[in-house]
Amino acid sequence: MKYLAPGVWRLKELPAPSINVYLAEDVLIDAGRRWDRRRIFAELEGVEISLLALTHAHPDHQGVAKDLCEARGVPLACHADDVEAMEGKRPMQEAAPGNPVNTMIRKIWQGPPYKVDRVLTEGDEVAGFRVVLAPGHARGEVIFFRESDRVAICGDVIRNMSYATGLPGIREPPPIFTYDPAENRRSIRKLADLEPSLILPGHGPAVTDIAAFERFAAALPA
Ligand SMILES: [Zn+2]
Repeated sequence: MKYLAPGVWRLKELPAPSINVYLAEDVLIDAGRRWDRRRIFAELEGVEISLLALTHAHPDHQGVAKDLCEARGVPLACHADDVEAMEGKRPMQEAAPGNPVNTMIRKIWQGPPYKVDRVLTEGDEVAGFRVVLAPGHARGEVIFFRESDRVAICGDVIRNMSYATGLPGIREPPPIFTYDPAENRRSIRKLADLEPSLILPGHGPAVTDIAAFERFAAALPA
């Protein structure tokens, strides 16, 4: 695991971090794709966890949720607005459902539905982080924000990689995975308003150049 901030780690992924799973104290944040099972289970061997909390219930963040919660006997948490998606009561990916990329992702990445034990709402606390609702990419997307050192685990509100080249770069999530890009831009501004010192995105390495992030957020269209 890679150390990122006090009590915060990212599970290893080679050759570069692209589908991120974080450990904050004893809470696992996100659960990769279905096929990340071996990697996640191997890295968590001997590591105590008490909860799996999702930034949002998309197939590349909830893939191993059911397997992990069952195997480790831990509860599952996600925001109230993503409970139905996680429990299989509405489609997980609402943007462009007929797009062949989304059809493929649903078939090969998405994990089975699973019961949400702990329903999160704005202001709740998880592993010392405050839950901040940030919809647009997913209805129940949240940022986990730690006031004391201003670390933000931001899910897919932004990403720090190009899906074309795999190289780092701050970007909006792609429209085909984002049901309301304008709403997500409001969530990016909400992230900027938190004045984070370190941003840990769902995809790509940590964002340490906060000035670059602020320029990116300020240049977004309304
Ligand atoms: Zn994602």
